[in-house]
Amino acid sequence: MTVTRFAPSPTGRLHVGNIRTALHNWMWARKHGGRFLLRLDDTDIERSTTEHAEAIRSDLTWLGLIPDGHVRQSDRFALYEARFEALRADGHVYPCYESSEELELKRKVLAGRGLPPIYDRAALALSDAGRAAYEAEGRRPHWRFRLDHATPIHWDDLIRGPQNLDPKLLSDPVIRRADGSWLYMLPSAIDDIDMGVTHVVRGEDHVTNTGLQLQMFTAMGSAPPAFAHEALLVGSEGKLSKRLGSLGCDAFREEGIEPAALIALLARIGTSLPVEPVTDPAALLDSFDFARFGRAPARFDLDELKALNARIVHILPHAAVADRLPTGMDAAAWDAIRPNLSTLAEAADWWAVVENAPNAAVADEDRDYLARAAGIANGADWNDGIWKALTGALGTETGRKGKALFLPLRLALTGREHGPDMNALLPLIGKERAVARLEAAAAL
Ligand code: GLU
Repeated sequence: MTVTRFAPSPTGRLHVGNIRTALHNWMWARKHGGRFLLRLDDTDIERSTTEHAEAIRSDLTWLGLIPDGHVRQSDRFALYEARFEALRADGHVYPCYESSEELELKRKVLAGRGLPPIYDRAALALSDAGRAAYEAEGRRPHWRFRLDHATPIHWDDLIRGPQNLDPKLLSDPVIRRADGSWLYMLPSAIDDIDMGVTHVVRGEDHVTNTGLQLQMFTAMGSAPPAFAHEALLVGSEGKLSKRLGSLGCDAFREEGIEPAALIALLARIGTSLPVEPVTDPAALLDSFDFARFGRAPARFDLDELKALNARIVHILPHAAVADRLPTGMDAAAWDAIRPNLSTLAEAADWWAVVENAPNAAVADEDRDYLARAAGIANGADWNDGIWKALTGALGTETGRKGKALFLPLRLALTGREHGPDMNALLPLIGKERAVARLEAAAAL
């Protein structure tokens, strides 16, 4: 059974980058009939808040990425403690007493010699007496995971292909602080084992972490999950700006972006597949494959998102949007109006045009023409093709054509120069309102 997890820290809102990660984890699980889990990485008690945790859940709901289960790391400290004790008993973790200033000094010395800032494992060489002396000074140890220098790190990344890291070129990672609190690295590996995660999909900023965590899986006697590290998002002109990178569901919602648009875009950018207007994310699953992801960064462009959003609004069925439309706006009205929308919210503007008499600024020379139009509209059969019938008759009677024929009518009926196809709009306005509007405009 395929199991993926999305593991945000509830220290802020979701932004476009981690929405994309969530989506890909969800897609992979759905594609394989598996489970998609939410794990809140809230070991940082100070910065994690329940408000952010709630916001993450509601953002996922808005996106339609509903987890099949969720856990919070802060509920799982007992598990981490037990695993930690086992690792300690086996010599896989060791206590260190250096202060952050002392570590900084070590890094500076290495940098001065042109060497990488790899921890020198001085703490491993401490004798019992040496440790006791530090403790007597009042120091409490932080803990490092001891990398196995003898075993090269290798994995076949589902996106990046074969990956190799030399553990000797990596520092033993600190996994626990002197106050007993946990850093991200070990709890994540413990959870991936405990939750039965089969695929870890995350940004390529985690590649080195993966190398370290692979050794943790081995030390805990478990086979690691498969890994897919995706190239990061960039803006259309290079690095993702702070503004673009911090856009979250609230901002997208305010812009009138449909979750389906965000999903259709984020599912495909950075892959060899084209971005297409798809209203049902399930339709994206078949072709979803890490083999189609490129190594080059994925370009995120807000204008592309807005354009895609409009294309999606144009094809959303009434049933999918009915609860967000103004009352009375039925399927025929929606079908008439949707080709004109960039966002669903604009439907309300057009519905107001249908329902409310416009403030029409018609030209004096059009008044007689509009009076005639009112007469024809009043006598016409409104069952079928009323716009064609009306404009056909007016054309024949007045000799007007093109703009002179259509524009005064549109203005008198809607108060606007542009808008939805009048073939579809006029029946929605209906005979009574249309005749009254034409008469009112003629009499102004
Ligand atoms: N909390 C980590 C992050 O947001 C999770 C990384 C992971 O997927 O393991 O970067």
